[in-house]
Amino acid sequence: MIDYQKIKQDLEGIAIEDNPALVRQKSKDFYWYSPILKKQLENVTADLVVTPKTEEEVIRTLKVAYAAGIPVTPRGAGTGNYGQAMPLSGGIVLNLAGMDKVKEIHPGRVICEPGVVIAQLDKQTKAHSGQELRFHPSTAQTATIGGFIAGGSGGVGSINWGGLRDIGNILRLRIVTMEAEPRTLDLTGWDLQKVSHAYGTNGIITEVEMPLAPAYDWVDVLVGYDDFMDGVRFSDALARSSGILVKELAPIAAPIPHSYFTRHKPYIREGQSVVVLMVAPHAMEPFVAFARAHKGEIIFRSDKIESMRGIPHAYELAWNHTTLRALKVDPNFTYLQVQYPAPDHVAKVNAMVRKFGDEVIGHLEFMRFDGQVQCSGLPLVRYTTKERLEEIIRIHEDHGCPIFNPHRYTLEEGGMKQTDRVQLAFKQETDPKGLLNPGKMIAWENPDFDFTAGKNFLFKGLTNVMEMS
Ligand code: FAD
Repeated sequence: MIDYQKIKQDLEGIAIEDNPALVRQKSKDFYWYSPILKKQLENVTADLVVTPKTEEEVIRTLKVAYAAGIPVTPRGAGTGNYGQAMPLSGGIVLNLAGMDKVKEIHPGRVICEPGVVIAQLDKQTKAHSGQELRFHPSTAQTATIGGFIAGGSGGVGSINWGGLRDIGNILRLRIVTMEAEPRTLDLTGWDLQKVSHAYGTNGIITEVEMPLAPAYDWVDVLVGYDDFMDGVRFSDALARSSGILVKELAPIAAPIPHSYFTRHKPYIREGQSVVVLMVAPHAMEPFVAFARAHKGEIIFRSDKIESMRGIPHAYELAWNHTTLRALKVDPNFTYLQVQYPAPDHVAKVNAMVRKFGDEVIGHLEFMRFDGQVQCSGLPLVRYTTKERLEEIIRIHEDHGCPIFNPHRYTLEEGGMKQTDRVQLAFKQETDPKGLLNPGKMIAWENPDFDFTAGKNFLFKGLTNVMEMS
């Protein structure tokens, strides 16, 4: 039994929250996106929320937690949507939002703390020297840079720069280890893959160095098509053209735009599919010419309307915001994350559109993947049963479209469905007691787990929570 009164004394001087309602609130993320995770994780809660202001306070917290054997689950803003930041074994939620300083800005790079909200970071680098992050998640207005690196993958700007997994898109991370005497380690080059997208299971990120790109006053544009596949072909041609600078390129099928993009609805016809874009201001004229050549109807451009008051950013229609907007109106939706590998990605999309019709509604994000243009999908699924969802997943995989399953809370099942030996080895070194975000890395919990057997991993600690409910 852990004596949390003593732990609070040991952490004196560091901000601590133990009010159960507030702790419960900070123990949740957007897990409820998935009807499956919603059931599994709804009773998960920590015992304490600790909010360090400095790296020294992180070190002190980890030292105390290690000595007492308390699990520690890091948290940025809690916008992850697979329960990444949820403390499956209770213990401490380490809220990094208090470490939010931008430390240095240089040509091409920025150094900051992990809890800076991404939009704030962009605002500062833009004001300083006309620069911005190469890409950001659609949650930029709320998500932290540390949470994006540890839990996200790519986003707005990935059409030019690829994702976080591409070497060069993170320059340096400093982490604190979970040991009797926590160490700080600075990681660069390939070593960054040890902790990026590791859900904080093998180190707490306390400093981040990210590359920057030139900032623009991006123009939000919607291009309408009566047929979704025409929008897809237009997007593919634009993504592969060389001269027009865009930052976001997402074809989204009817009925989503007219039914769920409420603030843009006056511009969208019923039954119309749209391509959501952000275009550099200097590229607008060639862009308009290109869209006309592809029979696209430009139905909205932010540089031509009187006021953008009350109208969200175009990127807040895309990525996982598309899902959010649909879910707000119709909770019977869920979604999938699909990859359509190049070079025949458009044909693969077409096959899936024909196969599922209105049950799986198209939403694609064009991006660079290993340097090549392709598209990922976040299609909306009209959810009926768990079994049907599994069947839809299988059909995609049988057609050469891998699924990164957003209905699983483990790193492996949400990713490549195999052990990441580099991240596992690093965890053995940095978290020997397995106290960082327990239950998220299958390779650590059950090294013999067979990913090919088609069974879901159920973390033992979570079984207890589910039995209690
Ligand atoms: P959290 O959710 O708090 O944490 C994410 C993970 O990182 C957790 O495992 C947590 O334990 C770990 N973590 C947090 N801080 C640290 C730290 N300092 N050190 C170590 N580990 C840490 N994702 C994308 O990649 N692209 C998108 O475009 C995108 N769009 C989204 C849209 C919506 C509407 C929603 C709900 C989610 C979206 N996501 C997207 C997922 C999520 O928003 C992003 O991953 C986001 O960047 C997470 O940031 P956060 O600060 O909320 O992190």
